[in-house]
Formats: sequence, structure tokens, C-alpha cells
Amino acid sequence: MLSYRHAFHAGNHADVLKHVVLIQLLRYLGQKDTPYMYIDTHAGAGVYALDTGYAAKSTEYETGIARLWDRKDAPPPVAEYLQLVRDMNPSGKMRYYPGSPYCADRVAREQDRIRLFEMHPSDSKILEENFRKQEAHLAAQGQRSSSRGKRVMINKGDGFTGLRSLLPPPSRRGLVLVDPPYEVKDDYRKVKLMLEDALVRFATGTYAVWYPVLQRMESRQFADKLKRLQANGWLNVTLSIRAPTPDGFGLHSSGMFVINPPYTLEPMLRELMPWLVKALGMDSGAGFTLETGSTVTGPGRRAEENVSRRDRAL
Ligand code: SAM
Repeated sequence: MLSYRHAFHAGNHADVLKHVVLIQLLRYLGQKDTPYMYIDTHAGAGVYALDTGYAAKSTEYETGIARLWDRKDAPPPVAEYLQLVRDMNPSGKMRYYPGSPYCADRVAREQDRIRLFEMHPSDSKILEENFRKQEAHLAAQGQRSSSRGKRVMINKGDGFTGLRSLLPPPSRRGLVLVDPPYEVKDDYRKVKLMLEDALVRFATGTYAVWYPVLQRMESRQFADKLKRLQANGWLNVTLSIRAPTPDGFGLHSSGMFVINPPYTLEPMLRELMPWLVKALGMDSGAGFTLETGSTVTGPGRRAEENVSRRDRAL
């Protein structure tokens, strides 16, 4: 089902959480010279206009980037994200919002590889066009050679089934962002199956899964199911900007579940999440949760979960 268009949601509170975490995961991988591969199984259009079209109609960005745009006091990881958004709006007016492929393109180095899956015919076309323009712009400025060949590749196929063809990446270093629409409940099952397979092929990879926190059962049980995957460790962070409405309308909370997170991620989030809650919170239901753990499995042993810490700030 391809009715979902991310432009409606671009720059909302969920995108803020996702893109702040994404940038920091890529920064961590970039600390070593060895190239890494960034794979986006559900890439979207890459760049979104906020002042026209779907985003202007829904105004969801007012729950996210619009609240942060003028802030000068953000903790460093949020400040870095804000700088990236400001850089794509040189006029100083907030007109464009970067999707995950654009964030990755800005952070990844010349030697790294970016692999994007986007199945929607319109969004994959826009994504290609955005990268074509970006390449031409940077080449004209002499910042990048116009023949960067295979640095960025866009695949119009199914990210759920396409991922396996890229694993493990040649350098054995990589991050996979998993960000499906979840409009159909089968997406939850597909994410879990895809990760089970991916972890066999590339056990040491980092996998970042965005998910909505909703009343529906699949959503409530989702993180608990991911905790049982065979991986060395996981981190689960959620951001709620308000209490849920009685009719359950609108997205009040979302999470990022990171498999094999870098050890730096937890302390970083512990510092920045209270700031984000204050900056984006709309009522007393605003808060965050942060938990980490490891899933230890072996022949004849049951999966064991060690939740190290769980926090909630109100
Ligand atoms: N990751 C993007 C970002 O942060 O900017 C947003 C992605 S959006 C939540 C999900 C995207 O997945 C949509 O653009 C949708 O068209 C696309 N999509 C849906 N099912 C897909 C599939 N099976 N494979 C690849 N893309 C898919």
C-alpha cells in the first residue's frame, strides 16, 4: 500500500528525534577511516518543502523543527542537527526540511556508501531529482567531483526484501535505518523478520528502527519483540510531546530502537532528552524513556534481557 507520503509529516517531533539520533550514529561511524555503508530501507523523498504542498497543509513541522528553529541553547547533538537544517535554508527562512537521505549525504564522507530504497514512484523520482541537483550544485562549487560514481545509489524496489542483498557491506561497517510508514500492521512483522535475517548476515551492524508509539497492540508490543532479537545490545528511546488524546488521534510519541548502539549514545541521549522534552513538550504528558539492554542467547539458553536503566522525565 503506497498511499503514505512523508511530506505530510516532515519536520515533526518524530523526525526531530529520528534525525538527531541518525546524525550521531553516522558521526560515530565516521570516527574511523574505514568506509561505512549507510542503508535506508525506506528513504522517502530526501528533501521536503515546508512552505508549500503537503507539509504546509498539515503543519506537523510546528510540533518539531519550528519549535527549535530559533533556539541557540541546544545541546551539541541537537545543535549539529539544527545547523544541518539551517544550512539548507541559507536565506534564514525555514523553507526546506532534510529527510534521512539528505542528512546522511551531509554527514557521510566521500569514501562512505549510501544505499537508498524508496518504493513510491513519485517519491523515488523526487529523491533521484534531489540527489541529481545536489550533485550538480556541489560539483559546480568544486566541493565534490561530478563523477562520484557509486557513492549514492537509489533503488526503487522493496526495502524489506532488498536489504539482504547489501549485507554484509564490504567494509563490515554499517548503519541501517528502518523507517517504514506502519500504516498497515504488517509493517511491524516485516521489520522484525527483516532484522532477524539481517542480524544473521551482518551481526555487528547497527540498526536504527523508528516506530510510532500508538495504542494499537502491534505498536505497544513492538519494542519488546525487538529486544528479543539476537544482538549484542540495544537501546530504546522514546519522546512524547503530549498526553495521548482520548480518541487516539495524532502522533503524540515515537521511538528509536537501536540495535548494537555505540556506547556513546546512551550518555548523550541522557543529557539531551530532558532538553528536547522541555523544548517540544506541550503538556504534562510530555516526557521521554531511555532504556538499554543486551540479549544473550546461545544453544539451549533462553533469551535474557538485561535492562540497565529506564528513565522517564516529566
Ligand atoms: N526515512 C525518511 C526520512 O526520515 O526522511 C522517511 C521515510 S517515510 C516514513 C517511509 C517511506 O517508505 C515512504 O516514502 C514510502 O513511500 C516508503 N515505502 C513504503 N513501503 C516501502 C517498501 N516496502 N520499500 C521501500 N520503501 C517503502
